[in-house]
Amino acid sequence: MNAVIPIQNLQAKGCDKPIEILKERGQREVFCGLTGIIWMHRKIQDAFFLVVGSRTCAHLIQSAAGVMIFAEPRFATAIIDDRDLAGLADANAELDKVVQKLLSRRPDIKLLFLVGSCPSEVIKLDLHRAAGRLDKQFAPNVRILNYSGSGIETTFTQGEDACLQALVPELPQTDQNSLMIVGCLPDIVEDQFARVFKDLGINNVSFFPPRNSKTLPAIGPNTQFILAQPFLGDTTRSLESRGAKLLVSQFPFGVEGTTMWLSTIANAMGVNQDHFEKVIAPLQARAEKSLIPLRENLQNKKIFFFPDSQLEIPLARFLQRELGMQLTEVGTPYLHQQILQKELELLPSDITLSEGQDVEKQLDRLKEINPDMVVCGLGLANPLEAKGLTTKWAIELVFSPIHGFDQAADLAELFARPLRRKEKLKFHQEVICN
Ligand code: SF4
Repeated sequence: MNAVIPIQNLQAKGCDKPIEILKERGQREVFCGLTGIIWMHRKIQDAFFLVVGSRTCAHLIQSAAGVMIFAEPRFATAIIDDRDLAGLADANAELDKVVQKLLSRRPDIKLLFLVGSCPSEVIKLDLHRAAGRLDKQFAPNVRILNYSGSGIETTFTQGEDACLQALVPELPQTDQNSLMIVGCLPDIVEDQFARVFKDLGINNVSFFPPRNSKTLPAIGPNTQFILAQPFLGDTTRSLESRGAKLLVSQFPFGVEGTTMWLSTIANAMGVNQDHFEKVIAPLQARAEKSLIPLRENLQNKKIFFFPDSQLEIPLARFLQRELGMQLTEVGTPYLHQQILQKELELLPSDITLSEGQDVEKQLDRLKEINPDMVVCGLGLANPLEAKGLTTKWAIELVFSPIHGFDQAADLAELFARPLRRKEKLKFHQEVICN
């Protein structure tokens, strides 16, 4: 059986000359790393995220997560009010009290993250030391770790990177050959990939983070790992420092990206090429077919990405190569050249690729281009909609299942829906930002 995307074409290049990168360091419009708690707490089901922060932090995660009526949430904020340095001993004692109370009320918590934030009174607290102190106190029932979700240090997907990096030293050691899939995936997507690996005959695969903190995957010099999310630069470095080897690949967005990602894994794990094609071809065929009607909606539409989720580059590749969208500017908060190397090779060279942000200048470029669709954060979306532009919230892309063959059409639909809605409303688009 022939694969829909022949395997020999997988190395196809999008451009021959490297794309110039426009580096900007100005005012940014992005969420902080606390936002990651919203999807992380759903993934690691016995973990709890205690934000050590201000009322602003409490509002952010409460409103981003919505109110949970039936289940006790697995995140909260310990609010540290204004205090001077002399009050730090009290702050530590207060934090100890909050943790004590929480853990005695919630024996189901097996992993507690103390999550740092940016108010100055929190920065003065040594959360790493506090986590070490509390970890000793509650061992072995509960593991207590810390990381920073502060908006000074992180953008919103970097919260996951910081959290996973904090977990890496906890992974048990092994010398066995193994494969690790790194990055939070919705359970449904993880199950789909697990089935594909089984069909390919790949055993000894683990997912990091796991669904339960008691099943942390082992790692060592014979572990190969591949990223499922492109924003895990610090986690990558920590895994490499444990001896594991990174498999650099495109990311599993769309039919092509998923094929390339699985092909990288299959090659590394010694899967026979014919067998690979036999397993993958029907999945590709189904996904290809599901994209056809969406291509009609998206073909030749101009799209502009503001830097936000760090998913921008793989998504741009998918939208351009599989759905025929025209890329204008693709902005990303950080560009991990090593991690995104295979993606960059597939982008056309006539786009603006920007790293970092100077929001006023970027808005000027947007005005000049006047695209059909803008991918941006919540803060920019409403004003841009008011100017007649069609927007897609970047954060929705992180919350939705978008990886893999079965989600390719759902991912395309996230972009097609706002355009269809606009057409239906016969919305008259005006010249923007005037
Ligand atoms: S930016 Fe800082 S103060 Fe604001 S919610 Fe995030 S961590 Fe809290």
